[in-house]
Amino acid sequence: MKILIAEDDLTSRTILTGMLRKWNFEPVIAENGQQAWDLMQRDNPPLIVILDWNMPFLDGLEVCRKIRCTLVQNPPYIILLTAKDKKSDIVTGLDAGANDYISKPYDKDELHARIRVGKRVISLQLDLLKIQQSLSYDAMHDALTGALNRRAILDALEREILRANRRGSFFSLGLVDIDHFKQVNDRYGHLSGDDILKGLVTTMASNLRGYDLVGRYGGEEFLVIAPESKGSRGEGLYEGLRRAVEHQVFFSRCGRSLQVTVSIGVTSMSGESSVDDLLAQADAALYEAKESGRNRIVYSTS
Ligand code: GH3
Ligand code: MG
Ligand code: MG
Ligand code: MG
Repeated sequence: MKILIAEDDLTSRTILTGMLRKWNFEPVIAENGQQAWDLMQRDNPPLIVILDWNMPFLDGLEVCRKIRCTLVQNPPYIILLTAKDKKSDIVTGLDAGANDYISKPYDKDELHARIRVGKRVISLQLDLLKIQQSLSYDAMHDALTGALNRRAILDALEREILRANRRGSFFSLGLVDIDHFKQVNDRYGHLSGDDILKGLVTTMASNLRGYDLVGRYGGEEFLVIAPESKGSRGEGLYEGLRRAVEHQVFFSRCGRSLQVTVSIGVTSMSGESSVDDLLAQADAALYEAKESGRNRIVYSTS
């Protein structure tokens, strides 16, 4: 584990570096506050920082404050190690954001123990961060297919509308619905149906552009948001998608290979459209696609 040492005094720095190495840490050395601050702004900065207070260019207190204002996502554990030992200095140091304060001369066993405390705090922090990241992924994605979930795709639609209004950009919205999906479930079972839903999302994602979004609107219906698409037949974007699904063979876990088709209702951003307007237009177009025979695309004219 990397530990940053910021210490301007050569002797103290050498002793501290030697001890950290002996305790199996990887010391990262700064000879003044400015160097320490520069090192902390790089990728993957050390998560434990030992700061002297009096140093040239930037003092330890300023480094501490800067770190606290900037590195808020995964903040390091900061120990101020300083000759300043008045009660008021300790208060100032802790108020500047230090986690711990040790006065020089220090006892090396005590320093080691306090670094172990820092290590425990950082390890808990990393665990929490991992849990938080996985929860926020789960909150945005559909558990079965891995596509964005309903809330996330509708939020994205709202953002795309705001962007279109602000910057004059444009996008299209496609509502994709599997044809006769109930029959697939009835014939081959719900689990096979689930496998098709998963496979469909993979097929859609690999036939769209990297910046298009796919979300599960509900059941066997998916929304596609395609930025910089006019949602016209000439573009071929949705036609490519429909054709890819039509030719895709899905393998279900019961060993069957299955095929499905989709109908798609497409609309595009125009004027002052709201989320509800666009969904209603795509839905009406989808209805028409179903009515006129399925496995086809209808482009909204409203
Ligand atoms: P249409 O061509 O008119 O769209 O016919 P359809 O059968 O696809 O439409 P309908 O709305 O009648 O049926 C949708 C089916 O989708 C019924 C439902 O059981 C199935 N479904 C919804 N969510 C899931 C799911 O998570 N897994 C599986 N296996 N089936 C699902
Ligand atoms: Mg000093
Ligand atoms: Mg449906
Ligand atoms: Mg359907």
